[in-house]
Amino acid sequence: MCGIVGYIGPKQASPFLIEGLSKLEYRGYDSAGIAVHDGSLISIEKTIGRLANLEQKLEHHNLEGNLGIGHTLWATHGRPSDVNSHPHSDCTGNFVVVHNGIIENYMHLKEELIAKGHVFTSETDTEVVAHLLEEHYDGDFEAAVKKVLAEISGSYALVFMSKFEPNKIICTKQDNP
Ligand code: GLU
Repeated sequence: MCGIVGYIGPKQASPFLIEGLSKLEYRGYDSAGIAVHDGSLISIEKTIGRLANLEQKLEHHNLEGNLGIGHTLWATHGRPSDVNSHPHSDCTGNFVVVHNGIIENYMHLKEELIAKGHVFTSETDTEVVAHLLEEHYDGDFEAAVKKVLAEISGSYALVFMSKFEPNKIICTKQDNP
């Protein structure tokens, strides 16, 4: 089981996300990560292992910003590793996603996306969601998310961030991930 936490507000997102993830530690996990929007760009820090490892990385690479998402992962697709940890992003880094559950038709979608030129960095089912969002985005974040949801099947909770929307997080859920 993984855990997901998100923050939008006046405070720095990063400490809130770490505190949220620490409250979810009891669920168990093999890796952890956060993504934070600084008003112009989204930065990601993630790592295999304990939350303490992530905190250590953040000491050297502090993520500033008031909007962010965090994730603890039990990998279902691919071995536990830094690259398979969430959050995942598309080719451009404009879209970021965390996910609990399984995207059942990810292999077919991944093949189609690779044929269109998308470059994947992880072995996860989740990464297809970020690339699909890149593919469907034409200026409307919510509309693009709806198009993504129409294409994927499975049981999932997904949280999305976009570089173009520094004040918005989109959360979705299907069945009981
Ligand atoms: N299927 C996703 C992965 O392996 C998410 C697993 C989970 O629910 O933690 O990356």
